[in-house]
Amino acid sequence: DVTDAAAIRWEQDQDGVVTLVLDDPAQSANTMNAAFTDALEATVERLKATENLRGVIITSAKKTFFAGGDLKLISAARPEDAEQVFANSMRIKRALRTLETLGRPVVAAINGAALGGGLEIALACHHRIALDAPGSKIGLPEVTLGLLPGGGGVVRTVRLMGITDALLKVLLQGRQYRPAQALENGLVHELAADREEMLAKARAFVDANPEAVQPWDVKGYRIPGGTPSSPAFAANLPAFPANLRKQLAGAPYPAPRNILAAAVESTQVDVDTAMVIEARYFTELACGQTSKNMIQAFFFDMQAVNSGAGRPKDVLARTVQKVAVLGAGMMGAGIAHSCAKAGIQVFLKDVTPEAAERGKAYSAGLLDKLVARGRMTPEAREEFLARITPTAEAADLAGCDAVIEAVFENPELKHKVFQEVQGVVAPDALLCSNTSTLPIGLLAEGVDRPADFIGLHFFSPVDKMPLVEIIVGPQTGREALARAFDLVRQIAKTPIVVNDSRGFFTSRVIGQFINEGVAMIGEGLDPVSVEQAAAQAGYPAKVLSLLDELTLTLPRKIRNESKLAVEAAGGTWRTHPGEVVMDRMLDEFDRPGRSGGAGFYEYQDGRRTRLWPGLREHFAVPGKEIPFEDMKERMLFAEALDSVRCLDENVLTSVADANVGSVLGIGFPAWTGGVLQYINGYDGGLPGFVARARELAAAYGERFEPPATLVRMAEEGATFRD
Ligand code: NAD
Repeated sequence: DVTDAAAIRWEQDQDGVVTLVLDDPAQSANTMNAAFTDALEATVERLKATENLRGVIITSAKKTFFAGGDLKLISAARPEDAEQVFANSMRIKRALRTLETLGRPVVAAINGAALGGGLEIALACHHRIALDAPGSKIGLPEVTLGLLPGGGGVVRTVRLMGITDALLKVLLQGRQYRPAQALENGLVHELAADREEMLAKARAFVDANPEAVQPWDVKGYRIPGGTPSSPAFAANLPAFPANLRKQLAGAPYPAPRNILAAAVESTQVDVDTAMVIEARYFTELACGQTSKNMIQAFFFDMQAVNSGAGRPKDVLARTVQKVAVLGAGMMGAGIAHSCAKAGIQVFLKDVTPEAAERGKAYSAGLLDKLVARGRMTPEAREEFLARITPTAEAADLAGCDAVIEAVFENPELKHKVFQEVQGVVAPDALLCSNTSTLPIGLLAEGVDRPADFIGLHFFSPVDKMPLVEIIVGPQTGREALARAFDLVRQIAKTPIVVNDSRGFFTSRVIGQFINEGVAMIGEGLDPVSVEQAAAQAGYPAKVLSLLDELTLTLPRKIRNESKLAVEAAGGTWRTHPGEVVMDRMLDEFDRPGRSGGAGFYEYQDGRRTRLWPGLREHFAVPGKEIPFEDMKERMLFAEALDSVRCLDENVLTSVADANVGSVLGIGFPAWTGGVLQYINGYDGGLPGFVARARELAAAYGERFEPPATLVRMAEEGATFRD
């Protein structure tokens, strides 16, 4: 029997209530693969044929309810598969439509996470009960993978909640709700504390509603908030695409546009026609390149990275109980907060008790906001803060099993603070530095146990940024790498692992983006166009405004140090055309960036007001233009090409690390799937990318010349994969 053999188990009681248990025998989670589709169709036919059917309860035997679409399948779909993809989407929709129009009550007993396809199955049920399990998430996150819910999720959320709420609360951001929030937002009808209660409530609904129908199948049903046919709603409708355009800033994200179109169009027709419209928009996304890129980075690569592809497997896992954070400035305070959040005891040390207290006060401020919004109880806040002990005394760090240093970016000072504490903390404590550029090998010279010394590069603001770049120095041991990896996972962040060199991977590659943007100013291009090119390429921060935030002095300091290091090693420093622009901004115009009150932008009370008119006066060449596409691609290519060189130089050892690190850490546009997936997915694949790089090299400089390894890969038909 196809239903038993595959994903759906049939259990029927004497009263005629059928419980469908989703339990794919081939996988640890249920997905919408071919076997499931077959089983769903057969199950629905069997329900139709069942005499004395009183009702249906759908639940799962897995930890999660249902995991959603089969991403392997979707990411294999090419444009020529469109017909097949459309047909598959319609099969699932038709089966779910039959289920909701059976004339018998159907209840979803959501025993765990119901994301994407999981929630779509539940939405086709007349009643949804969610088990209030910790970690359980409910939502339609398809947009974050460049897709839309193609199993009726758009049609049903719009009919259930109205166009506006469905778009803003569920579809466009792909938010994942905890069960209680799903209840508040009307995605489920009730919660249950345990499995028994959930099933009892499901049974009670079946008993009380012998002939359940969906609200939208009741004659005269009106979609909440109106449709384009209602004058009030129609008056507001033009604002929707306008807002979306503003949010996307011209970046190439097809999914939100298709979601908006499917949502609005679906309200103009009957449910069955609406399902066809949704399937068309879904098919276009599933067969396109952007969803492939995003699935690669945010699903496959992220899974590889977080599950420990970069961690030595033979080292036993350990958890950190007590951590010493040295330096309670912006980064130290954020690191202390993230550690305390994970339940770790934190000793936060600065030079004075006042400075250390200020670091702790930063946490108190973040928690106050949560308490004010009802997201944390005052007691939980107290408990959280009690885990952070501010101090100015090294002696207080006795027994700490890890040290994370975040003092000023100065090698002598960093050596000094490690000297102060290494005899006090546990004798085998892990020693980490949060330096953003200094070689780990150099810093390790200042400690007694260089094998236990490692780079742990956080990003600002630490409490929001999910990435940590782990830097393995020449003397770092495997044990230290494994422990650093485990510590990053313990505080629920994503670790990438790179080898030591100046700027590591992230700081080095983001430097290429900045240099390229600034070089265009030096060529006399319009600064407004440069900023616009960054926005339309999909960068979350425009290039000149980003540099103003970092300050122009920082890249110059790094450049000078790197230059010295290169020359000391007998090499020649290759100057970048962006450097002279930064030098003039600093030396001739005294405009170091936002913190100095003047940069590429003007500032009033620290707030950006407008681009500095002097840019036009002193740099721009009237009438000077290059193709806008070149402006965007120069920035993207500069970063992608340098990432290939990072692989060549063994700074990077994994493609997944490069993709995940670039989108989570340094704002490489998410639609690309990361620096190396961008090359894979470029029009014409690697050969297309190589040809375009040569074009850019001919027009703008040899820095765009593709590395030999990349040329060879293109010739061999290879792609970047681990
Ligand atoms: P910061 O100036 O905000 O904080 C540095 C803190 O270290 C200050 O509170 C200072 O009082 C303290 N300090 C100085 N000497 C000390 C000593 N002997 N013992 C204890 N504390 C001492 O700087 P920050 O922005 O937090 O940066 C700290 C480190 O993190 C630097 O190495 C920086 O390169 C790195 N980093 C910064 C960022 C960023 O975005 N700012 C990102 C990643 C890494």
